[in-house]
Amino acid sequence: MTGYIPGEQPDSPDIIKLNTNENPLPPSPAVQTALDDISADSLRRYPPPTAMELRKAIADHHRLDEENVIVTNGGDELLRLVLGTFVEHDESVAVAEPTYTLYKVLAQAYGCGFISFKLKNDWSFPDNFADELNSSGAKLLLLPNPQAPSGHLIPAAEISALADAFEGLILIDEAYVDFVDPALQHDCVELIRNRQNVLLLRTFSKGYSLAGLRMGYGLGASSLIGPMQSKTKDSYNTDLIAQKLALAAIRDQQYASKSWELVRQEREQLRKNLGDLGFGCSPSQSNFILVTMPPGIDAESLYLALKKHGILVRFFNEDGLQNCLRISIGAPEENQKLLAAIKRIIQ
Ligand SMILES: *Cc1c(COP(=O)(O)O)cnc(C)c1O
Repeated sequence: MTGYIPGEQPDSPDIIKLNTNENPLPPSPAVQTALDDISADSLRRYPPPTAMELRKAIADHHRLDEENVIVTNGGDELLRLVLGTFVEHDESVAVAEPTYTLYKVLAQAYGCGFISFKLKNDWSFPDNFADELNSSGAKLLLLPNPQAPSGHLIPAAEISALADAFEGLILIDEAYVDFVDPALQHDCVELIRNRQNVLLLRTFSKGYSLAGLRMGYGLGASSLIGPMQSKTKDSYNTDLIAQKLALAAIRDQQYASKSWELVRQEREQLRKNLGDLGFGCSPSQSNFILVTMPPGIDAESLYLALKKHGILVRFFNEDGLQNCLRISIGAPEENQKLLAAIKRIIQ
C-alpha cells in the first residue's frame, strides 16, 4: 500500500500556508487562559478516560446526550475507530471520488475492501447511488460534507434520503461544516436523532483553530457510539491538556462564529478576485476553494511558482484534479499576497 501524503508543514513562519486548511485566525483567548491554568503536576495522573466534562459540553452544544458523543484524538482517530469497530476484514468501505485520500489508506491499513464510485462532474452523487451501494455490499460509506476537495455542500435532505435507502452505515465527515453559510440552515445533526446508521465526524482542527491540539469528536445514536466508547477506543485516547483546551474552545461560540464569518467573507472575495483573473472557482461552503486553471496555465507549474514566492497551496497529482489547485482561505493580508503573486506569475 501507499501511505497518506499529508500537506507540507514547513518550519519557517514566513511561509504563507494555504495548503492544509488550517484556520487563519488564532484560537479563542479562552484557550490561552485555559492553557495558562494547567500545572505540570496535573499531568502526573491519567486523564479522565471518558472525557465526560467535554462530552457534556459538546452534547449540550448540539442538544444531544453524552451517550451520543465520543471524543477522539483528532477527527482522523474517529475514522480509524469506525473502521475498526464496524467493518470486518471481509467487508468493504465505499467512497465517491474525488474525496479525502486518507479514506483509501485507512481501508488498506485495516485490510478491508475499498469500493470507489465516481462523483459526477458537478460533484453530485452518481445515479441511483443508494441502489449501487446496496448491490456493491458496502458496509460503510465515508462521505465528506462539505466535500473535500471541492467544498461543495450536499444538502441534508439528499443525505437523509440516502441514509434511508442505504443498508449500511454512513459516516458524514463534517470537518468543514462550521464554515457553511448559516443562511442555508444546513443541519445533519437532525439525521442522527432517529437513525441507527448515521455517524457525524467533527473536529476542532479547522473551525476552532486547534489543528495542533488533535481533538475531534463523533456524534451518533448510542448504539453506534457505545461500542467505540466502551470497547474499541484506547482508554486514554485524548490527553488532559487537549480535553481542557477543547472545552474552553467549544464554550466560546461567540468567538468561533466570528472567525467562521470572516472566513466566509474572505472566501467569497477570493473567489471573485480569482474569477476575474480567469480561474474557475466552483462554489464552496468550506474554508478552501478548488480552483481550475485558465487556458494556458498549468496547475503544477503555478503551484511551484507560488512556492518560490513563499506561498504554499495544494496540488493533487491525481485523476480528475490535475488541472486544479486547492487553496485554503487565509487571513485578509495573506489572500492579498496570494493574489498579487498569482498576478505576477501569470503575466
Ligand atoms: C481535517 C479533516 C479531518 C479531520 O482532521 P483532524 O485534524 O484529524 O481532526 C477529517 N476529514 C477531512 C476531510 C479533513 O479535511
